[in-house]
Amino acid sequence: MQSKIVILGTGGTIAGTAANPHDNVAYTAGQRSVADLLAAVPALAGLSLEAEQVAQLDSKDMDFATWQRLAQSLGRHLARSDVGGVVITHGTDTLEETAWLLQRVLAPSKPVVLVAAMRPSTALAADGPQNLLDAVAVARAPGARGVVVALAGRVHAAGDVRKVRPYRLDAFDSGDAGVLGVVEEGHLRRFRDWPAGVPLGLALLEGDVARWPWVEIVTSHAGARGDAVRALCAAGVHGLVVAATGNGTVHQSLQAALDEAVAAAIPVWRCTRCAGGVLVGTDVGPAAAMSPWQARVELLLTLLAARAG
Ligand code: ASP
Repeated sequence: MQSKIVILGTGGTIAGTAANPHDNVAYTAGQRSVADLLAAVPALAGLSLEAEQVAQLDSKDMDFATWQRLAQSLGRHLARSDVGGVVITHGTDTLEETAWLLQRVLAPSKPVVLVAAMRPSTALAADGPQNLLDAVAVARAPGARGVVVALAGRVHAAGDVRKVRPYRLDAFDSGDAGVLGVVEEGHLRRFRDWPAGVPLGLALLEGDVARWPWVEIVTSHAGARGDAVRALCAAGVHGLVVAATGNGTVHQSLQAALDEAVAAAIPVWRCTRCAGGVLVGTDVGPAAAMSPWQARVELLLTLLAARAG
């Protein structure tokens, strides 16, 4: 029997609509249902698919409540023996954050494919339908596993993917690691190992999201002021990620305030603000190989785990 692929809808440009078909910029994300998106791809007819609308938002507005709902729904479907994989339609803006959260919490042995689009569904040449078709092909591919991202024919690992372009159709990149594979006419050509790991567990995301730790990102730059950090600490921030210049250097004004934060038992993680590469050296800390956004998710999960203790 063909195993089922579940498609979870969360919104994004892939579900967006514009008043004019030639308009790829002035559109509203998260307008069309996931069932509607599937119906627009005739090549998917006849496959064993099941759709669920988990949310309907522009992913710039992604929030903890939606993350909690999405992770719980995903966990439920992955546990089903008749389900072979899951596809999640999502906006591109925060997709890498959601991908990392889901990989760390669930580390699924089945494929979970996040898919998006750079043009709204009403565009003259919308990219969403092809991306959705490719994502389902990835979810059905033998040996596919872990949380990955399918866009513009390329497949990225949750741990490597970053949105690097605001407009081009191939908006994502996997940096030095390179893509996991490519999708060509419905066929997945793989290049390397797919995401694996030990799941932190869904229990971590239980409970009232209003009580989840508050983690902010501060950036080091010319003229940086430690006052920004002091204001965050005074307001009750629980953790800080500093997007440092180059190989982890931090403006002296910011560093002084970050030292005060550490003295007040507020964890401070350092990563680079460079678009690629990792911090190199000794004592670089847990976020050395992470983007600021990924590090923020990781620190959030670390703080949740410490509370669960
Ligand atoms: N703002 C949109 C979103 O993230 C952008 C996109 O999907 O490409 O939902």
